[in-house]
Amino acid sequence: MNINENYLNLEESYLFSTVAKKVAQYTSENPDKKVIRLGIGDVTLPLCNAVIGAMHKAVDEMGSQSTFRGYGPEQGYDFLRNAVKNYYLKRNVELDTDEIFISDGAKSDIGNILDLFSKDNAVLVPDPVYPVYVDTNIMAGRKVIFANANEENDFLPLPDKNTKADIIYICSPNNPTGAVYNKEQLKLWVNYAKEQNAIILFDAAYECFVSDENLPKSIFEIEGAKDCAIEFCSLSKTAGFTGTRCGYTIVPKNLGRLNKFWLRRQTTKFNGVPYIVQRGAEAVFSEEGQKEIKENINYYKENAKIISETLTKCGIYYTGGKHSPYIWLKCPNNMKSWEFFDYLLNNIQIVGTPGSGFGQNGEGYFRLTSFGSKENTIEAMKRFEEAFSPAKV
Ligand code: PLP
Repeated sequence: MNINENYLNLEESYLFSTVAKKVAQYTSENPDKKVIRLGIGDVTLPLCNAVIGAMHKAVDEMGSQSTFRGYGPEQGYDFLRNAVKNYYLKRNVELDTDEIFISDGAKSDIGNILDLFSKDNAVLVPDPVYPVYVDTNIMAGRKVIFANANEENDFLPLPDKNTKADIIYICSPNNPTGAVYNKEQLKLWVNYAKEQNAIILFDAAYECFVSDENLPKSIFEIEGAKDCAIEFCSLSKTAGFTGTRCGYTIVPKNLGRLNKFWLRRQTTKFNGVPYIVQRGAEAVFSEEGQKEIKENINYYKENAKIISETLTKCGIYYTGGKHSPYIWLKCPNNMKSWEFFDYLLNNIQIVGTPGSGFGQNGEGYFRLTSFGSKENTIEAMKRFEEAFSPAKV
């Protein structure tokens, strides 16, 4: 047998393990210091009541012979696909149930969708971004080129007609920068994709944080997108499903064979999301569920506001925070990302994520998240302001 040697081309990811090691060492050497973690990309608030109620009911159904369910449809139960359909309809996006595929989260589908594309496709990925886009393509032996996101373009790169790409990744709101494309900017990407006969893989995992009606939550709000885009979304950040696992992928029928091929792929390699989880997910889209998840999202957004206001006071450049749980800041005094990480940990006991872990253009930047508790966020920002108030920097 021959092994897939492409795995040797992956860069080792030491980002989160190095963060954990450094924090563990610091806390063992300084047991009296209170370290505040603002680096986590995971939610902390529990599932809402509507979800818990629906899942309890589903558990009871599974315990009774007359309502027990075995294998479900691989692409998801219609009750959930229709709930997703109605969710999109609220933003005037009309989808067919057959275009909606329920999954165990966005990460798996983002990786699995590559089964549908030939190896010789050129892949365009923004830098910095969620590292999964790059790694999944490297594993498959594809060539990856980068679209530079930087301060000049507000971390929102636009298409360059001289670059040839077949598969284009867009993440909006972006992880790690929190930057969000507006409709005009996304339209430029849609036009470019159509000209190039390329496909856009749109990651909408953070759409629930977009609170400006004029900003798109879905690429399908853009005219022509159904001809050239696949969208991935997840209930992970929307409703605290990071451990419960449920997401959905939209493959428009306008994409021709891709819709059929994805169905074939899923029915062959995937056996569906648990009934109990899908009932919980359905409840997210109910009136009660929507109200409850908004309270949680607003809690995180309040934290993001506290962080953003502190950075503004300190005169530090940042993006994100308004329509995203992430705040992406420029390290003060031209510090490098890891240098700033050490500085924060050693001096004010705050843990964040070095921007260099998300791509070359992340060097010199740093990601803070709003997923912590309000008390901790306030305390952390008090320390931050004392250390970096304009008089001191
Ligand atoms: N896409 C982005 C941009 C993410 O940041 C994450 C998780 O952090 C995911 C997808 C994965 O989401 P899921 O939990 O649905 O697999």
